[in-house]
Amino acid sequence: MKAIQLFDKEDLRLVELPKPTIQADEILVRVKAAALCGTDVRMFKNGAAGATANHPLTLGHEFAGIIEEVGAQVEIYKVGMGVCLQPNIGCGVCARCIGGQQHLCNDYRAFGINLPGAFAEYVVIPEDAVKKGNVAIIPEGVSFAEAAIAEPLSCVYNGFLKCNVKPGEFALVVGAGPIGIMHAMLLDMAGAIVIVTDLSAERLSICKTIMPSVEIYSGDHLKSFINKKTEGRGLDIAVTANPSPQAQTGVLELMNYGGRINFFGGVPKHLQPVPLDTNLIHYRELIVTGSTRSSLQQYRRVLEFISHGLVKVEALVTHTYDLTDFKHAFDNALQAQGIKHIFVF
Ligand SMILES: [Zn+2]
Ligand SMILES: [Zn+2]
Repeated sequence: MKAIQLFDKEDLRLVELPKPTIQADEILVRVKAAALCGTDVRMFKNGAAGATANHPLTLGHEFAGIIEEVGAQVEIYKVGMGVCLQPNIGCGVCARCIGGQQHLCNDYRAFGINLPGAFAEYVVIPEDAVKKGNVAIIPEGVSFAEAAIAEPLSCVYNGFLKCNVKPGEFALVVGAGPIGIMHAMLLDMAGAIVIVTDLSAERLSICKTIMPSVEIYSGDHLKSFINKKTEGRGLDIAVTANPSPQAQTGVLELMNYGGRINFFGGVPKHLQPVPLDTNLIHYRELIVTGSTRSSLQQYRRVLEFISHGLVKVEALVTHTYDLTDFKHAFDNALQAQGIKHIFVF
């Protein structure tokens, strides 16, 4: 089978591997759609722990496909079913796993991070993923591409839940990439008045096309723009969906009393620590939150959002590629061309 493997930083190769075989308690999935994520791009640029010339790693953690084979001991799942994967597999027995936070397990494993991923024609689903609920059956009417996007959407949903959004609240999303647009989608679904800002006018205009209900702003006077919009009160919600320290420091002074902030995008290590005006947090009673990955429950929930048409993620897919065209795909994603880049099979 064909696979895209990371051998070292900036060393990504299309390789030919034997078609994987499975054990009695495993599933083999034939991949139909696998989306590129900022994480893949970062792993390509910076290299990744465990991805070496001797042990190259197949990337790809946002995916959906068809069950090609099931082991003799596997129940429920059948050959031919359409499935998509929550990629984070917890140990299943620690306090966090028991509490439904397997994505925060100290021993967590994930496809395309430290298990062979989905930029390949086939992926083996190991026993613990089969038994712990990582394999979701794609609801009727949901395409493979949409099912692949359920993964990043579930991460966005995790951040969204921390903001306790109420209808009519003013929300700002900084960053109009795929993650920012998905935040805007969920905020809009929850009845917030959504403003999206980005340095790239091109991305903002794509965002506006996908979501005509949001207001877009690019310019140097964000604060006065927000002030005017909110009649001087400030934002109830802000999400930083980019890796910028300035975005994190900047949103604090735009907030209303009791405002909630989600630092969704991580900031590169060399730009840490980020100086925050903690008096703004103190005197305005702000709640500053972070989020990473998503739980199994959040993953299943967003699949319902997609299948019931509450969010239209299909519109995010601006580029599709054959696996052999991976250089082009990574280049476009690196240069922030378009929104979501997906390998289709
Ligand atoms: Zn991702
Ligand atoms: Zn655990």
